[in-house]
Amino acid sequence: MAVSQELLEILACPACKAKVELKPDGNALKCVECKRVYPIRDDIPVMLIDEATIEE
Ligand SMILES: [Zn+2]
Repeated sequence: MAVSQELLEILACPACKAKVELKPDGNALKCVECKRVYPIRDDIPVMLIDEATIEE
């Protein structure tokens, strides 16, 4: 896994401050509240609202 569980627990959605979870494909983090999806580039989560996409 590219992103550790420890890191996931520290990260929060910059839009709504909710927690994020790793997508099944391991390539992005998804906010449990607003459903924004943050990409992971070179094993580093990009926690920027401008970079996020909203997924149903
Ligand atoms: Zn959110």
